[in-house]
Amino acid sequence: MLSIKSQGYSVHIGDNSLLQLGQFIKDHQEYSQYFIIVDENTLQNCLPILLQQIPSLKDAEVIETESGEVNKNIEVVTQVWMAMSEFHADRKALVINLGGGVISDMGGFIASTYKRGIHFLNIATTLLSQVDASVGGKLGIDLGGLKNQIGVFNYPQGVFIYPEFLNTLPFEQLRSGFAEVLKHALIKDVDYWQEVKNIELKEGSYWQKIIHHSVGIKNKVVMADPTEQGERKLLNYGHTIGHAIETYHLENNELTTLLHGEAIAIGMIAEGYLSLKKTGLLQNELDELVQVMAKFFPLPVLSKSDFDKYLALMVHDKKNQKGKISFSLLNSIGKSEWDVFCEENDILEALIYYNETAEKA
Ligand code: NAD
Repeated sequence: MLSIKSQGYSVHIGDNSLLQLGQFIKDHQEYSQYFIIVDENTLQNCLPILLQQIPSLKDAEVIETESGEVNKNIEVVTQVWMAMSEFHADRKALVINLGGGVISDMGGFIASTYKRGIHFLNIATTLLSQVDASVGGKLGIDLGGLKNQIGVFNYPQGVFIYPEFLNTLPFEQLRSGFAEVLKHALIKDVDYWQEVKNIELKEGSYWQKIIHHSVGIKNKVVMADPTEQGERKLLNYGHTIGHAIETYHLENNELTTLLHGEAIAIGMIAEGYLSLKKTGLLQNELDELVQVMAKFFPLPVLSKSDFDKYLALMVHDKKNQKGKISFSLLNSIGKSEWDVFCEENDILEALIYYNETAEKA
C-alpha cells in the first residue's frame, strides 16, 4: 500500500485503498448523504466491488451518467445537480466519483459548484485517471465541442486507486492511459522512459508501481505550481496538438473517434518534431520517441485538408497568449521546458512530419 500527499489530501494506491476509503468514511461521520456518480460501465464493473468492500455505502444514492467524452458537458452536469437537489442533498453531502477522467473531471466540477461547493473524492477506475486525471485538482467540462473550457481548480478529500479495477478495462482504454505514463517519462524522467518504453501492456501487478511513479511525477509538478502559472504547463506536452485533433474528431462523426491517449500520442510525435526544431531534442531521440509511439498506438494518417481546422482549435487553447500558440517541448528525453511559442508554419510542418511517420508505421 502506497500513499502520496498532495494539496491537503492523500492519494492511496494499492490493494488496500478501498479499505482506506472505508476508514475515511468511518472517520468522517459528519457527511449527511453520499452520492456516487458512475457511468454504465463503472456501475456494472466497479460499483459491486466498492459496495462489497465498503458495506456502509450501501445506502448511498447512485447517479448514473452516460459514458464518453461527448457527455462531459453542461447538460449532464445540470441533470446531476437536479438529481442531487431532488434527493435534498445539503452542504454536508459527499460526492464520490467512481470512474475515469470524465467522471472525475465532471463530478469534481459538479461538487465544487453545487451549493457553492461540497466535498468530493475520487475513486479512479481507468489507467488514465489512476496515473493522471484524478490527481491535481483540474476539474471541468467541454463547451460546444471545445475541451475543458469551463472549470475550476479544486481538490478532493482523497483519491483512492485500486489497481484491480483495471482488470475489466478494455485494452484500448488501458493503452490510452499509458500515453500519459509515456508523457510523464518524456518530460521529467529518462530512467522511467527506459523502463516504460519496453513494457507489455496487459493486466498485472506491476501497474501499482507505474501508477505510484507517475502520480509522484505529476504531484511534484502540481505541488510546485498548482494553478499552472509556470512548471505545471509541462504536463501539457503533446496536448496542444493532441487536444485539437481529439476535439476535431469528436465533433465530426464521419471521422473515427480518437481516445484521449490516442490523440495525445499523435500530439507527442508532432510536438517531438517541434522539440527537434526549437528546443534541442536530438534526431536519434525523436526517432526513438516515434518508434515507441508506433509500437503502442494506432497512428492514423490525418487528412491534410483538416490541418487548418486543427490550427483554428489550437488558437482556442487556454495556454495561448495574445494569439500566439504556446507549447511545452522537450530539450531531451526526460527534460522539458514550457512557454515555447511556435508559428503556424512550424505547426503545419509538424503535422506533415507526423503524417510521414504514420504512413511508414
Ligand atoms: P473515461 O472516463 O471516459 O473512461 C474511459 C472508458 O472506460 C469509459 O467508457 C468508462 O465507462 C470505462 N471504464 C471506466 N472504468 C472502467 C473499468 N474499471 N472497467 C471497465 N470500463 C471502465 O476516460 P478516461 O480515459 O479515464 O479519461 C479521459 C478524460 O480525462 C478526458 O476528458 C480528459 O480531458 C481528462 N483528463 C483530465 C486530466 C486532469 O488533470 N483533470 C488529466 C488527463 C485527462
